[in-house]
Amino acid sequence: MTERADTPDKVRCDACPVMCYVAEGRTGACDRYANEGGRIVRCDPLTIIETAADKGTELRPFLQAGWDGTLAPEDGRTVTAVGAGTTYPDYKPAPFIVSRQIDGVDAVTVVTEAIFSYCGVKVKIDTDRHLGVEGARVLAGEEPVGLVITSEYGSQMLSLGGVDHLTGGTKAEGRATCDALLALCNGEAVDLQIEGGAAVTVQAGQPPVVNGQREERMRVGCGSATIGMFASQWKGLVDEVVVVDDHITGVVSEHQAGKVLGWPDTGIRIRGHRSTPGRYFRVAEPGAGWGGTDIDDPLTILNPWLAKKGARPGLSLLMVSTTGEQAAYYVLDDDLAPRPQPMPEALQPSVDLIAENCEPALCTVMFQAGAGGSLRSGVTRNPVHLTRAVQSGRVHVTAGGAETFVWPGGGITFMVDVTRLPPGSFGHVPTPALVAPLEFTTDRETYRALGGHDAAVRDIADVLESGNEYGAAHRVVKGGR
Ligand code: SF4
Repeated sequence: MTERADTPDKVRCDACPVMCYVAEGRTGACDRYANEGGRIVRCDPLTIIETAADKGTELRPFLQAGWDGTLAPEDGRTVTAVGAGTTYPDYKPAPFIVSRQIDGVDAVTVVTEAIFSYCGVKVKIDTDRHLGVEGARVLAGEEPVGLVITSEYGSQMLSLGGVDHLTGGTKAEGRATCDALLALCNGEAVDLQIEGGAAVTVQAGQPPVVNGQREERMRVGCGSATIGMFASQWKGLVDEVVVVDDHITGVVSEHQAGKVLGWPDTGIRIRGHRSTPGRYFRVAEPGAGWGGTDIDDPLTILNPWLAKKGARPGLSLLMVSTTGEQAAYYVLDDDLAPRPQPMPEALQPSVDLIAENCEPALCTVMFQAGAGGSLRSGVTRNPVHLTRAVQSGRVHVTAGGAETFVWPGGGITFMVDVTRLPPGSFGHVPTPALVAPLEFTTDRETYRALGGHDAAVRDIADVLESGNEYGAAHRVVKGGR
């Protein structure tokens, strides 16, 4: 940190390209640094995670070789990068390079609060309700901040942020994107509108709210899988079962599971594209109705029944959605038209079992960023050595002490579940970009071989006592959020 009193009562912060002049007692544009007595200090304390095994906190896997696979140091304290500060543009060693003993090995952890222009979040929303077509823009307020990507098994995915939204559009778009990403990463609820689709409130680790309705359950499976799971329980209780699903609607009498159980034909006919026996695509349009379709009356997916194929007056039919939230029972009349009847007591438990087998619907927010840039020179004088060491597993990457997934291939592109970081771990700078804690851990020998800043290595006691140029405040938290 260079502190130059370029004006009588202001000090320049150079922890990011904005280079704010900060007045005495005030904070800079990101609220993360302040002028305290003519000195730039980091407003949040350095965060230490206590990971002692005897306290019952989770131990996390570490390097493949050298020790027993745990990341807890012998004194039970892990220095994270949360509150550590930044040495942007990394012309000098990272804010803290800490030595510690891990399972008898002399290890080094390099911590820095990295500034990410290349970052975003992948959001998994557990819902069957249709959120929007693939490729639809996702808006925060009036601004586009991402898009709908694929439907997954019981979930829909959004990709938010990325450098094009952060810096490639208007200033308003960049600000809205940065705000949405920051809030999501810090565990706050964010209202999003999908163009031509649903309004959805997303909060990491919480149920999604779709068009004002809080989602409770994730579906037990697709319609076909539901038939497979429960066909044997329906046998003998009902003549036909249809599991309504926007992706694959299942019909038990035609389905492989029904055939194996000797289920008789019923003469039922389904509207939609038949895939394989008893499995139908596109029985309706996507929507917020039964099984993620747009229908409220399940009978609309049926064509007239065929007597020559087994339909007869008195034949019973259960129609149910993939979450068990909707279910109806019918009996064919003399004209082979299904008439609603009260659900028989014997059938209700099977509907309840579908609901019971559904997991709670949640939002998952994964922060994804590229750490292959200049921050590597805060770790080593030869940046590509760090990239190669990470890719080969010789250097372990965590974010705020949380495990990351590092993508294979070039660079250091990682993902982390934001609920695993200590509260308030993420920040921003107005360039706009997100700030996220990042730690690189390896053994001392490897660190030296990488061209690491060995002279800057300090032990944890010294770090806690003296801090760094941004101050010496620290806090201790137990495990992740
Ligand atoms: S935005 Fe924050 S980090 Fe950047 S110069 Fe201003 S106070 Fe420092």
